[in-house]
Amino acid sequence: MIADMHIHSLFSTDSDTPMESMVQAAVKAGIPTICFTDHIDYDYPVKDITFEFDIGRYKEAIDALKEKYKSKILILMGVELGLQEHLGGRYRKLVEGYPFDFIIGSQHLVGNKDPYYPETFEGRTDMEIYREFFKETLRDIKAFHDFDSMGHLDYIVRYGRKKAADYRYRDYADIIDEILKLLIRYNISLELNTAGIRKQLGFPNPHPEILKRYRELGGTCVTVGSDSHKPHSLGYAFDEAADILKDCGFTHYVYYVQRKAHFVKL
Ligand SMILES: [Zn+2]
Ligand SMILES: [Zn+2]
Repeated sequence: MIADMHIHSLFSTDSDTPMESMVQAAVKAGIPTICFTDHIDYDYPVKDITFEFDIGRYKEAIDALKEKYKSKILILMGVELGLQEHLGGRYRKLVEGYPFDFIIGSQHLVGNKDPYYPETFEGRTDMEIYREFFKETLRDIKAFHDFDSMGHLDYIVRYGRKKAADYRYRDYADIIDEILKLLIRYNISLELNTAGIRKQLGFPNPHPEILKRYRELGGTCVTVGSDSHKPHSLGYAFDEAADILKDCGFTHYVYYVQRKAHFVKL
């Protein structure tokens, strides 16, 4: 079983799952390594909602579970940062201030709106919004790139009116290739996030064509995550993920401890 490098707990605003429930489910499922990557999205634009938590308490909770379950599973402390161009300085300070094992950088916004809310797409075509999303991703990586893996690169297609019905990598290849080249230059892994499969897109995020393109451009490092907010979806579709990675030309997947990459044969 592959390490699940993207899971959430009640430290994330959008989850109410106790950490220990996730750990017990992972042990039961035979997952050798899990990494908690709860959400920090500074300056989240929706009124009265924040995606922030006390990292000191987070570390204490993870350390206690790590000790309690040390003979059964490796538990890692990560974080998923919501990228925005102006947050570079704050995020640099954050990642330097705590002993994270792993940091995911994720684009969660487009035009300072959360695409989770359908009004983000009002008066615009899916294609216009998708293009804007990829452009902002590129801009945000230029502003801050001290993270280990790029989360769910084409996350936006989960939320369009027609989702992935008319979505093709080649319509955005000019921008996506620039993103992939930057990731390779900055030594950042690409994440294969199986929530796309779970949410019935028919593929993980990003689309296998993008994983293949990253490999063609020289990328070798892929992390795998279920993006579970509940115990039942831990390790979701990881067999399929391994097959997709092999089809795309990868021989290994990667997990991180103390922000160092460890390669495991697929
Ligand atoms: Zn995310
Ligand atoms: Zn997530």
